[in-house]
Amino acid sequence: MKITPIIGLEVHVELKTKSKMFCSCDAQHFHIEPNTHTCPVCLGLPGALPVPNKTACEWCVKLGLALNCTPNKISFFERKNYFYPDLPKGYQITQLEKPFVVNGFLEIDGQKIRINRAHMEEDTGKSVHTTENGVDITLIDYNRSSVPLVEIVSEPDITSAEMAKKYLLKIQQIVRYLGISDADIEKGSMRCEPTINLKIEDNEQTFYTPLVEVKNVASLTGVQTAIDFEINRQTEEFEKNHEVKSSLNKTTRGWDADKNQTFLQREKEGSSDYRYFPEPDIPHIVFTDEQIEEIRKTIPELPDEKFARYKSYDLSDYDAHLLSKEPFFAGIFDFILRSSTDPSFAKFVANLMLGSLKTIQIDIEKIIPDNFKKLFDNKNNLSSTAIKQLIVDSYQTGKDPLIIAKEQGLMQVSDTSAIESFAKEVIDQNPKAVEDYKKNPASIGFLIGQLMKASHGSANPQMAKEILEKLLK
Ligand SMILES: [Zn+2]
Repeated sequence: MKITPIIGLEVHVELKTKSKMFCSCDAQHFHIEPNTHTCPVCLGLPGALPVPNKTACEWCVKLGLALNCTPNKISFFERKNYFYPDLPKGYQITQLEKPFVVNGFLEIDGQKIRINRAHMEEDTGKSVHTTENGVDITLIDYNRSSVPLVEIVSEPDITSAEMAKKYLLKIQQIVRYLGISDADIEKGSMRCEPTINLKIEDNEQTFYTPLVEVKNVASLTGVQTAIDFEINRQTEEFEKNHEVKSSLNKTTRGWDADKNQTFLQREKEGSSDYRYFPEPDIPHIVFTDEQIEEIRKTIPELPDEKFARYKSYDLSDYDAHLLSKEPFFAGIFDFILRSSTDPSFAKFVANLMLGSLKTIQIDIEKIIPDNFKKLFDNKNNLSSTAIKQLIVDSYQTGKDPLIIAKEQGLMQVSDTSAIESFAKEVIDQNPKAVEDYKKNPASIGFLIGQLMKASHGSANPQMAKEILEKLLK
């Protein structure tokens, strides 16, 4: 029996525009007094007219372009009709026939995951379940109603929970690079619904288990665990009778994060009818080639390109990954790199950023790229321990690192004649140690120690050793 999981992901990303999707209400809805960011449009009152948010539409196209999609030059909105208390209009404005962008892909570990589409829609309100006077009640908060949402629908090209996780992290990273959403899964500004079924090849017969959609998974680990749980559950189900319920179209299951298992919500025979029809209150939306090119120009260097560039600086995969992971951190790195064109400067800065600076909270406003350059130019006169400490001290005090180095006597003397005179002095004063060295060259450590002492620790130890050896020959 050969089992191949078939996994597709629907990812919702809430855009961080100032105003909502179809009205001018403030789109901020976290920790806000309930129902204060509302108006007749987002409350779905009769006669209210929606006006699309231009920035949100452009950001959806921008995200699509970053996901290698093709924009539809003409697209339109539709009404998806269903009843739910958090949806006051009785329908959601979304896109079905002509979404903003289609047919993209993302590469995960060299494998292409096709993206069917990315479309623009509005978020719903929020049901808040609570108790009052011992009675269970549900309250509705419409602050989130009509906040712009992009839905990215993948083709079912994902074959494992691990790959699903990588795909999600990649989308999150791209969205953050574009600066269009916080894409925080725990906060709900990025949400994911996996659909999972299995292709089972058994005794020359091929079976497909019914499609299962898992709802309400609110963490990255949750998505992974839910997928693995479903793969196991569907395998066991099949093994019981060696057949599949062919009448089932799609089953919706919820995710119980405490028990780490999915549970049946509803089984559907035939697809549900949302009675989609074009939204009559919003005209078709047209993007010209010029407008699309203008949007393309606003796309910054994306994570994969950045990673490749960092690798070209002779950084390890691991370091290049850490530095390109978050746009904020990568931005600081690139900002510092501008201060020198020396090819080995990048590696020098990377070591400091991933070493000593990693332990403190960095504020880009306080970064002085020149400090990195000064330390780099003096790297032969400073020990690596001193450099690590100086970068932190200069960041915290705002002082020139070389001035701190001089004050603390950390500058090493690399001047050959100066070290030579210390060496001569040490050789003259330690005839016995010189005799010892002639019998046993390993005993040079003592003479180096004496030289370091004579120079008050300022001599470059490597040079001290070389010069002593030369004079003792
Ligand atoms: Zn509103």
